[in-house]
Parts: sequence; structure tokens; C-alpha cells
Amino acid sequence: MRARLRAAGLSGYRLQWKVPGHPDVAWPGKKVALFVNGCFWHRCPHCNLSLPKSNVEYWVVKFARNVERDEQSRAALEALGWKVHVVWECQLKKKAIDATMAELLPVLAEELDKELVSGALTDPA
Ligand SMILES: [Zn+2]
Repeated sequence: MRARLRAAGLSGYRLQWKVPGHPDVAWPGKKVALFVNGCFWHRCPHCNLSLPKSNVEYWVVKFARNVERDEQSRAALEALGWKVHVVWECQLKKKAIDATMAELLPVLAEELDKELVSGALTDPA
């Protein structure tokens, strides 16, 4: 993921920046944040995950709390004028990452006022 960002010319980011939710990748100067969410813990909407079979109540509460915290972080960041992006783990797997980046990089480049390095959308980094 970060190799892709660098290859695309979108460097200058900070990791775990100290704003709500501690985004995995952040460009503080431009107030652009990117979360990379684990599908299991953050309840990926794409993966159609089932609940663990035992301690169901525990997991329901736990997941609900995670999702709620994610939403609060996003809301808090947006209230501070940040643009927030979420990428799911499954979207970074070999088969999916090209499509994910093709969608994400131009948006980020725009928000960051940067030119995408040509070929960045196809380079396997
Ligand atoms: Zn997923």
C-alpha cells in the first residue's frame, strides 16, 4: 500500500498521525486521512463476514463498538476539515489492489494537489 503511494508520487505522509482515530496514513498539511481497516475487526462491508460461532453476544458488542469508534473518528476528522478514506484489507489483496489503487490514487492526488507519477496505476510495486 505505502509502496504504491510512494510510487505514485504521493509521499510526504505520516503514519498513525495524532488526530482522532489515528489514521494509518495521513497528510496533515492537506488534512487527508486514510484508514486501512482489517476486515474482521472493523466488519468489512465487502466480505460478508459471519459472526464467530461461540460467545456471539461478546462479539456482537465488540464489533459494534469497533464500528462505532470508526464512525466517530471519521465524524471527528471531518468536523476538523479532514477528508477521510477507508480502504479494506481485502481490497489490498493481490487480485484487488490494482482496481483499488486505480480508484483511490487519482482522488488522493487531487486532494493533495499532486501529479500522479505516470504508470503508477499499473506498476506492481
Ligand atoms: Zn473485506
